[in-house]
Amino acid sequence: MKFDNIIIGGGLSGLLCGIALAREGRHVAIIAAGQSTLHFSSGSFDILGYDTGGQQVTNPFEAIHALDAKHPYHLVGIDNVPLLATQALRIFTESGLSGQGGMTHNHFRMTPTGSLRPTWFSLDDYLTVQDPESFPYRKVLLVSVPGFMDFPVSLVTEGLRRLGAQVETASMSVPSLTHRRQSPSEMRSANLAKVLARDKKLQQVAARINKAASGAEAVIMPAIVGLDSQEAVEFIRGRVQKPLHFLSTMPPSVPGVRVQTLLRKHFASLGGVYMLGNTVTGGRIKDGHLHFVETSLLPDERLEADDFVLATGSFASDGLKANYERVYEPVFDLDTTAPADRMQWVSPSVFDDQPYMYYGVRVNASMQALKGGRAISNLYAAGAVLGGHNAARQADGAGVDMVTALRVAQRI
Ligand SMILES: Cc1cc2nc3c(=O)[nH]c(=O)nc-3n(C[C@H](O)[C@H](O)[C@H](O)COP(=O)(O)OP(=O)(O)OC[C@H]3O[C@@H](n4cnc5c(N)ncnc54)[C@H](O)[C@@H]3O)c2cc1C
Repeated sequence: MKFDNIIIGGGLSGLLCGIALAREGRHVAIIAAGQSTLHFSSGSFDILGYDTGGQQVTNPFEAIHALDAKHPYHLVGIDNVPLLATQALRIFTESGLSGQGGMTHNHFRMTPTGSLRPTWFSLDDYLTVQDPESFPYRKVLLVSVPGFMDFPVSLVTEGLRRLGAQVETASMSVPSLTHRRQSPSEMRSANLAKVLARDKKLQQVAARINKAASGAEAVIMPAIVGLDSQEAVEFIRGRVQKPLHFLSTMPPSVPGVRVQTLLRKHFASLGGVYMLGNTVTGGRIKDGHLHFVETSLLPDERLEADDFVLATGSFASDGLKANYERVYEPVFDLDTTAPADRMQWVSPSVFDDQPYMYYGVRVNASMQALKGGRAISNLYAAGAVLGGHNAARQADGAGVDMVTALRVAQRI
């Protein structure tokens, strides 16, 4: 089987790269072993939330100039980051995702534990805060679902009170949600969103919210609506009589799954082939060139392409692995930035900045992956597999994915 381009990994970076290439008329395949970290993400997209000293960043495009030379933004050129990030937003819009932010300044999103984190772009339906000193609502209704443990109401209430809001809480259910409670494992955000996908159910929930919200200026509820499209979100927002905002829950992330689904649909609409559940097990590299890859589902088939992109993520997605002896890249055994001495991989305190979070595959200035110190001319790397930063600490995960994926697409 022959494609123009094969992308290994179907997360944010693989999908954006695939869409950018397919838009150019290329015949592109994305091979994805499983779900990506989008399924755990917040529904907000970070460029840079914290500088290297841990201080909150207001203007991320200004602050990235002070980043360490190893940061992957340097691979695309610091001055190119705003343009590439804006191109990513254009792809979001084409895919049917609308949002807020995405300009020069960060805003805040509220986490499920009620704390505020700076971010760059958030989906439209999300509660965002421009300035914690001037939260626009004095009275809010916080809606919860009985038996749903992945949205800690007390912590969110505290978070909203810190913003100066009076918080009233209301428990909301409909018969089919009550039925799900019989099995506690069913009470996960994605399952609730499947129940709340139909107009009738949403109408019932909206009616109950309206009854409880008479004294509130706005309604806030967990992100349990809109698993695979924006329509259910718009439907309920159109029926609740007060401004309705969603807050992220503990994983799985309904907005994250929505982003993944809509990007994937857009990729397919451009003629892209998405092979889910298929793992790239290896490939033939000869004379610094990757000739084909082999996969778990098509063991007798050589998948050939002119260019390949490695977008397999970090440790969480098996893009990198570790054993007692080494940190390694499991598909091609590419060079990594991890030191040989395993004592250097971790800091003694779990609260420290952990060195292993910065590991990734080695690439040259053209973002071609290195093996044995030599570049593989048609194998590029993008996204979290690159390393050089700590997304949890710096709040720059999606930014790295967006700009490195689109830069690789330009290079191919
Ligand atoms: C829990 C969590 C929450 C996060 N939340 C946010 C957030 O709210 N905002 C934000 O900006 N950033 C967030 N990030 C960071 C950001 O989401 C990640 O940096 C980013 O999603 C990584 O995208 P990726 O496409 O590079 O890799 P991934 O999302 O990890 O995707 C890798 C893909 O490669 C596939 N794969 C791996 N190996 C193979 C193989 N051999 N063959 C085929 N496929 C393979 C995997 O199955 C997966 O589909 C979060 C990260 C984590 C871990």
